[in-house]
This record gives sequence, C-alpha cells and structure tokens, in this order.
Amino acid sequence: MDKRVFAGRTAFEPQAIEAAVEGLFAQLPAAGRLGPGVRVLIKPNLLSKNAPEKAVTTHPHVLRAVILAVRRRGATDITVADSPGGPYTPAAMRSVYEGCGLAAVCRETGAAAYTACETTHKAGGGQLVKEFHLLKPVVEADFIINLPKLKTHVLTGFSGAVKNLLGCVPGLEKAEFHMRFPQREHFGQMLVDLCETVRPDIHLVDGVLAMEGEGPGSGTPRLVNLLLAGEDPYSVDLAICRTMGLAPMDTPVMAAAHAQGLCAQAFDEALLVGDTDARRPEAGFVPASSYTGNMNFSARLPGFLKPLLPAFTQWAAPRPAVKKALCIGCGKCAEICPQQVIDMADGKAHIRYKQCIRCFCCHEMCPVRAIEVRRNRLFRSR
Ligand code: SF4
Ligand code: SF4
Repeated sequence: MDKRVFAGRTAFEPQAIEAAVEGLFAQLPAAGRLGPGVRVLIKPNLLSKNAPEKAVTTHPHVLRAVILAVRRRGATDITVADSPGGPYTPAAMRSVYEGCGLAAVCRETGAAAYTACETTHKAGGGQLVKEFHLLKPVVEADFIINLPKLKTHVLTGFSGAVKNLLGCVPGLEKAEFHMRFPQREHFGQMLVDLCETVRPDIHLVDGVLAMEGEGPGSGTPRLVNLLLAGEDPYSVDLAICRTMGLAPMDTPVMAAAHAQGLCAQAFDEALLVGDTDARRPEAGFVPASSYTGNMNFSARLPGFLKPLLPAFTQWAAPRPAVKKALCIGCGKCAEICPQQVIDMADGKAHIRYKQCIRCFCCHEMCPVRAIEVRRNRLFRSR
C-alpha cells in the first residue's frame, strides 16, 4: 500500500477547497480506480447534529469538493453514510444530515444521503474482533472514501482516519464496544480491527476548520486550512499526530497499530508530499485535557503492579463530571452510556462513578457541553 500522505493548504471557501481536493485526488493512485459503474461510499464524521461552524462534523464544503472530484472521474453512484452516536433511525439520520449541512450538499451534487439504516455483518479476522456489524452500504461499496475531521479526542487523543470508522457501526452498538473494551489499549486494538475490516480506499482529512481542546464534541474550532490525504490509514493518522503535536505511541490507536506491525512509531517525513506551507505542523495546537502524554500507561507498569491497574485507573483516570448549572435534563447521556450508570433526577444527570468505565460517550453526546472531563488533581498541569 502507498504510504505517502499528501498535504494541501486552502482558503476557507468552497472554490478553494474544491481546487485543493482535486489537487489531492490527482496525486492519489487509488483515485484512478474511480470510474463509471463504481459504487462509491463516502464516510464523513457525523458525530452528532451540529452546525458546520462548530467543527464537530465534516464540513459541507469538503464533502461537496470530494463528491465533485469523484464525479469528475465518471462515478455517479455515490452514497454518503454514517451513524452518529445516538439511535440509528431514518428520522434521526435525516435530522443529522440537515443539521450538519450535508443534506443540502447531497441535493446539490446528486449524491444519496443514506437513511435506510440497513445493516449487515462482515468478517475481518481482527485480533480482538473477528466480525463486525456494519452499515450495509459500507459493506456493499466498491470504493470507500473516509472523511475524518482533524479533531482532538478525550478518549483516544485524536479523532483520525481509524477512529472515524467507528461510525460504520450502527447507533448505540458503538457504546457496547466501550463496555467490552474498557481499557484504552484494547479499545485502540478494536478500532484497528475495524479499520482492517472496512479497509477504505482513500482517507481525506478535513482539517480546514479543525477542533482543539475537548474534542470530539466540545472542543474549540480552530481554522487550520489544511487537507491531508492518503491511502494508508496509519500513515494518515501519524501525519495527524504530527500536525497536532501528539506523540503517536502515547495514543491507543497508534500504539495498537504499531504493535501489529502496521505502522512505524513516528511519521517518516519523507512520506509527506506538499509544499513547505502545507507540511508545517500547527504550533500550539491544544490537546484534550485528558491527554497526559502517557495514555497507554498499563504497558509501562511493572508486571507485579498490573493486577492493581483497574483500581489505579478508577482512581487516576480523568472522569466525566456534570456541570449541573448547564444540564438541561435531556437524558441523551443516560441513553448512550454503555454502563447505564447515569441517572436522571430533578431534571439533571447524575453519574454513579463506581461502574463508570471512562469512555466519555456522555461527554461526546451532550448537546450543551454540560459534561466536562475532570482530571485527577495530581495530574493537572494547567
Ligand atoms: S458515565 Fe460517561 S464515561 Fe462513564 S461509562 Fe457512562 S458514558 Fe462512559
Ligand atoms: S446530555 Fe448533557 S444536558 Fe442532557 S442530561 Fe446529560 S448532561 Fe444534561
């Protein structure tokens, strides 16, 4: 597989983004397989219903540019599909596509915004998960284009090419993976298994209006004006780490991919293609407050201490905390919680921490940013 990553800067306006995306497609060998009769699936990041300016979801300008680049190559059977964190129903999907601005792009370009919500299974032979239950168009497509957003992530450090594929798993089933794999290392391995099962052909990162801080849902938008594209998801994710200033081996996805021999420990500069401006990392990119630089600490513990890991994790790991003044009592956090440890009382959410596995699904899904990530005060640096 071609491990090069192509970088391009763009102004934040539709025509410039269209030109930049076309420039990247022109360099990607895989794009040469696009043509008449090829069924194309585009997988954006639709974490939840949010306006584009919040930088939570793939920006409509980027989706539009990608659809047009696909059409220029003769493919007309184009489906846009994703499954956000909540229930996966046609009505919910229509609402999310509209709210994120992607429905209008699909209408304009003639792509289909997938709302049928059919699912099927696909075997992949992963290390932890041998078969995944996935959105049907993901399994049936001839060609998959993955459109992750350049965002921080309170659980995995960043949300990139590999992590974005969790949206191929329908609705609330995503939360079950948090329950099955509560340790970050195992969760990262599961995501690598998923990536090896879905195997997209192209990954194009929307880093135009990126997110720093408490991503993926509650961070701060940051205008980066960058697009990254490649065929190897792990190279693309290493390039994202480089852009954000994260140490790849301190993130669970990259550590799992490296352990499996799928990527190096750090990005090889020789693989980055682009002009000097496009290759410039983002100075001062703010990580998630839960990013401690040693997110995979179990691997570093001496063997005799490993039995103590669950108790240590419970005590030391960052935890979700409800800001009661902001909570509007919508119950979305209780609905998504894989452990069912959020109770609604007096119109507010209350977390029972004893069984909380620190997956931060509640933080991701809260529509009013009422759930913050609180670090143990011993580990706070700012
Ligand atoms: S309370 Fe939040 S972090 Fe804890 S298990 Fe539930 S969803 Fe995950
Ligand atoms: S999702 Fe947010 S606003 Fe809704 S109940 Fe939970 S904490 Fe409150």
